[in-house]
Amino acid sequence: MKTDVQIGQEAKMIHINEVAQKIGIEEDYLSHYGKYKAKVSLDLFDKYKDKKDGKLILVTAINPTPAGEGKTTTNIGLSMGLNKIGKKAITTLREPSLGPSFGMKGGAAGGGYAQVVPMEDINLHFTGDFHAITASHNLISALLDNHMHQGNVLGIDSRRVVWKRVLDMNDRALRNIVVGLGGKPNGVPREDGFDITVASEIMAIFCLAHDLEDLKRRVGDIIVAYTFAGEPVTARDLKAEGAVALIMKDAMAPNLVQTLENTPALIHGGPFANIAHGCNSLIATQMGLKLADYTVTEAGFGADLGAEKFFNIASRFGNLKPDATVIVATVRALKYNGGVKKDELGNENLDALAKGFGNLEKHIENIKKFGVPAVVALNKFPTDTEAEVKFVLENCERLGAKAVLSDVWANGGDGGVEMAKAVVEVCENQKSNFKPLYEVESTIKEKIETIAKEIYGAEGVDFTKKCAKEIANIEKLGLDKMPICMAKTQYSLSDDPTLLGRPTGFRITVRDIRVAKGAGFLVALTGEIMTMPGLPKVPAANNMDILPSGEIVGLF
Ligand code: ADP
Ligand code: MG
Repeated sequence: MKTDVQIGQEAKMIHINEVAQKIGIEEDYLSHYGKYKAKVSLDLFDKYKDKKDGKLILVTAINPTPAGEGKTTTNIGLSMGLNKIGKKAITTLREPSLGPSFGMKGGAAGGGYAQVVPMEDINLHFTGDFHAITASHNLISALLDNHMHQGNVLGIDSRRVVWKRVLDMNDRALRNIVVGLGGKPNGVPREDGFDITVASEIMAIFCLAHDLEDLKRRVGDIIVAYTFAGEPVTARDLKAEGAVALIMKDAMAPNLVQTLENTPALIHGGPFANIAHGCNSLIATQMGLKLADYTVTEAGFGADLGAEKFFNIASRFGNLKPDATVIVATVRALKYNGGVKKDELGNENLDALAKGFGNLEKHIENIKKFGVPAVVALNKFPTDTEAEVKFVLENCERLGAKAVLSDVWANGGDGGVEMAKAVVEVCENQKSNFKPLYEVESTIKEKIETIAKEIYGAEGVDFTKKCAKEIANIEKLGLDKMPICMAKTQYSLSDDPTLLGRPTGFRITVRDIRVAKGAGFLVALTGEIMTMPGLPKVPAANNMDILPSGEIVGLF
């Protein structure tokens, strides 16, 4: 079996101008980064402002397990399958972060014969968008520390700075640090820390902003600290937003690349799916809708986090109307949800499959609550037995959900034809009545309770004393009328990562709430959420190399 990077390097890529041409983008709208990557100018929106949007397909999944689900792979494969049946399709995806690329094995550009290329560039800094975000974020930090050093007219309480620094690297040693050491000329000493760039509020803003002016306004709204009197201090108070917009001006344009079968792909932005909303930029999705009949996008983690936020946050802000949802499941992951150990997932086990199926069942029910039709894509692995595949497909049909086998990892677009046909049929015959699950005008507690009860299946929500106090404070500041961004473990429908399958009879605990005023949502934190990952014992970076011949190895 070839590795992903081998398959990627054997791809017959076409010049990016040709890819652009397929969807009606003239060369004038492109800024080239070599022959196979280009940024697409936002002027394209003027050209197509009267054109009707195409169909929007969201790819989501059951709760993630170490067995792997394959959302990105399925997303890319579906766009190739749609092409095979004569539909003009685009895939829109998140940009991979460097941290996880060097950490755990596994890129974010798909896998097998369903990849976007050049995968080695996409997985490693690409066109530099994340560097721009890192620089913008740290500019605000520098302005803030300088303000305190230069007399602190705003009265910033150095103990209440809520704006950390960021770096696009997994580096646990930077989680907690002290800055400003070395005496008076070197600033005001205070505790600080680093988050990974994808956790930056600027990343979330980047992915929700309509244009550069909107980005500027939202960056100005970011709350970076509180004064001694308890008043919020914003990036606007530091006069930061103009310079940030300047740094971000080129990054705002989506990146065009291609799949292994030359399908156009727009890859842009990549916020965390826990403390942020986990979807590619709205700009890329909206551009896709103008250019293609079918735009296939993805939301991070399982449907309890990714799809919920795609519907309640991204679609609300972007006025998106999703036409269909593809829920990715694997036999292996369902068996894992049914209690099978990781090293026994290759053996047929219909009892465990039946037990774990509850997880998929709950996600199918949840998607219906948003009024969006669902198709289940069973992502085929070589170890799946005929009886197991039959069980999943039949039980989906029993629930009234269309279900198909997807073989895009092994067979590319050909393996996605059946899935593509199913998606087209659903789009043409079932009307989507999409609506978000709650109104932003509801109270913070009501909004969180709605998500917990309806989506997670919880009996209720407990708020810690600290959190209840913070909620009262947010209400007092008048910042409560925003959607909720839940930060929760991705491994369970509950807030306990060990509760697999379809847990019942549990409550969830919200221990803190943070204001992301620039992004426009409130982050509700359950459990411990990591915003600066560490590297594993054997980092993937140790196996990477570029040989004298130019061949790249070890990149998955
Ligand atoms: P997600 O987007 O859900 O995180 P990915 O599509 O990135 O998942 O896939 C995760 C990993 O699993 C990748 O390394 C990919 O190559 C692998 N993978 C996905 N589908 C299959 C499959 N059907 N058979 C074997 N490996 C697969
Ligand atoms: Mg993915």
